Amino acid sequence: MQLFVDSSDTYDPNEVGATDENGSPSAPRQLSPSSAATFDQCPRRWRFRYVERLPDPPGREALVGTFAHRVLELLMQQHPGRRSKDDARRLARQAWPEMAESYEYLELGLDEDAAFDFRWAAWTAVEGLWDLEEPSDVEVISTEQHVSATLDGVPFRGVVDRVESDSDGLVISDYKSGRAPSLRYAASRLQQVLLYAAAIAEEVGEQPVRAQLLYLGQKVVSTEVDSGELDGAVGQFKVTWEAIGESCSNDDFEVRPGPLCCYCAYSQRCPEGQAEISRREELRAAEEQSLLQMAG
Ligand code: SF4
Repeated sequence: MQLFVDSSDTYDPNEVGATDENGSPSAPRQLSPSSAATFDQCPRRWRFRYVERLPDPPGREALVGTFAHRVLELLMQQHPGRRSKDDARRLARQAWPEMAESYEYLELGLDEDAAFDFRWAAWTAVEGLWDLEEPSDVEVISTEQHVSATLDGVPFRGVVDRVESDSDGLVISDYKSGRAPSLRYAASRLQQVLLYAAAIAEEVGEQPVRAQLLYLGQKVVSTEVDSGELDGAVGQFKVTWEAIGESCSNDDFEVRPGPLCCYCAYSQRCPEGQAEISRREELRAAEEQSLLQMAG
């Protein structure tokens, strides 16, 4: 099956926001799931990233995931008979120089031991695919598929890790190298792949039957795709889209401090984030103190 693609190498799914000639935020032209998720987490962070375009370096864990994704992309492009762990090792060796020479990797400034740990973590993630499936059994239709669609009036752009076909129909898969969510948070994590499913249904006229997150080395979090699920995901996406538009027209981006402040690249510019980080550090220190007292 041939899927619609925006095959431009320069295509940027996050190309949204920016400012007009007066420096005021202009409304985005399109929205990706990651941009929407950033806004939902903290609109101020979204402004830093998508309006001011301040750098948001990926960090070690995200880069480990990027490299594992790249190796799995290459692996799943091979003939099914050439998707063994040995093939994956060979592809990892081929792909490594590109990562090792990248600006983001060099910025980590890893010494020899830390670089070894990085490669080991990435390989562990790659190898974790075999805990979830036998790669040679997967009927791959496309990898790293750029998809563009209008979902209930919202211009959507995204990149789908893998579209495959099983006996029932199309399946949307996304690799994850982070920690798998508990049951309580699984539904919210699935929004991203449901949006991909909606976009692919829109583009090719065939509704995928399943959408799944492959948490490498851990578990598969999946959902059957039905119109209720798709409407829910698209409806939430539209709410975010409208909230972004309103924030841009008023140049009013709510600040939403929380646990993610500790990992936010912009915390030095954000007094509320700084306060949140200090509060959490004090809380952690108090907990450690009380544990020590109990142990003593
Ligand atoms: S530090 Fe926290 S509150 Fe501030 S922008 Fe980042 S996520 Fe938002």
